[in-house]
Amino acid sequence: MKTINKRTILIIAVTAVFLAFTALLMFSMFSHAEEYALKTINAHLFDNGILINAGDIVDSNGVKLAYTENGERKYAENSDTRAALLHIIGDDKGFIDGGIQDTFREDLCGYNIVYGVNKTSGNTLKLTLDSKLCASAYNALYPYKGCIAVCNYKTGELVCIATSPSYDVYNKPNDLDDEEKYEGVYINRLFGGLYTPGSTFKTVTALGAIENIDDIFNQTFYCSGSYSLGGGKIICNDVHGTVTFKQALNQSCNVAFAQIAVQLGADNLNKAFETAGLGISHDTIDRLHTKSGICAASESISENELGWAGIGQSTTLVNPYSFLNFMCAVANGGTSYEPYFVKSAVNGSGRAVYEAEPVSSGVSINPSTASTLKELLRSNVSDYYGDYMFGGLTMCGKTGTAEIDNKQPHAWFVGFSYDDSFPYAVVAVLENSGSGLKYAGGAAAKIMTELYEKL
Ligand SMILES: [Zn+2]
Repeated sequence: MKTINKRTILIIAVTAVFLAFTALLMFSMFSHAEEYALKTINAHLFDNGILINAGDIVDSNGVKLAYTENGERKYAENSDTRAALLHIIGDDKGFIDGGIQDTFREDLCGYNIVYGVNKTSGNTLKLTLDSKLCASAYNALYPYKGCIAVCNYKTGELVCIATSPSYDVYNKPNDLDDEEKYEGVYINRLFGGLYTPGSTFKTVTALGAIENIDDIFNQTFYCSGSYSLGGGKIICNDVHGTVTFKQALNQSCNVAFAQIAVQLGADNLNKAFETAGLGISHDTIDRLHTKSGICAASESISENELGWAGIGQSTTLVNPYSFLNFMCAVANGGTSYEPYFVKSAVNGSGRAVYEAEPVSSGVSINPSTASTLKELLRSNVSDYYGDYMFGGLTMCGKTGTAEIDNKQPHAWFVGFSYDDSFPYAVVAVLENSGSGLKYAGGAAAKIMTELYEKL
């Protein structure tokens, strides 16, 4: 009897252990099914670690940007398009950080928890981007590093993204890791770049001034070309004489804006930076994370440094995507949708298995402040830069020429169309090129007019 009891207990114990292992294995298979199915050893999808079998990626006009043919991954026909969109599409070997062949892999391969991976065609990923416009923007950046992006400020749809340096995925250069001209080539600068903003930052100081300095529109400032502040000197780009707040922004007077920053104080300048959404890392609906900006204004900042911070020099750094989003919010009455570029994933039967759901970017500017700032940015173009520059578009904007140690400055342009029947905002950064108006303003004007002519 005793032996039988012992055997029974042993059998029950072994069975229990077996069942427990089976359950654990099944749980693991189920919860990691996607991971296993999309592993690079899955011969349906990968050949020696290279993505071969996935659905098409098409632009807003249906132009194929990536597809599989005879077991090989192919890319856009045009070499400029391939280079312009390298960082958006990604390569098939995983060098590029944040390409959608990686971030949207399961949608692209048609992964489904019931049926597994779609072995034939995968899903088609539709983008909001116009690939021709992206190629034009890539050419407009040449020969400089930097980025350009255009976003519909009513919907958050990005229609144009280009980042430089880049390369043609069909002809990957051998000296990518050695040549200075390819520095940071694997990064999409729109999402991952941080730059000294230069005078584009005067839009942030202006936002703070509108909200915190009651008589700002009644004040005048005197610029003799430089200004002694806190034991140091603020140097202006010109001798502006007596200017109002609006004229100071139009003419980008450093002396006036350094004085405004001091009136505001570090705390209010920092608050304006946060209100503009420049201090946060955006988790985009395209599954990317942007770099968060850094504001120089802190409790311990000296008066002189605060003056420099108010004109976008000092240690302040901003991310171009965040600045574009700030412009979208100003244009759109104070709030904006998170900019995005993956619209949907559609399966072989034409059914959408993924659809972008626009979400608020979290930026919330007082509507009256946004409206005042919008008029000021309109005045910059109509009264100072000249509407002729934008080929008849009614543009608002601000340039920046960010001084960098012993190098040509970074050129910036941020702005948007005043006319909301053409609701687009733009950011352009051309590193170490020179004047903001000439280089970044010129590139932004080229892309905005090209977009206008297309629509
Ligand atoms: Zn001045």
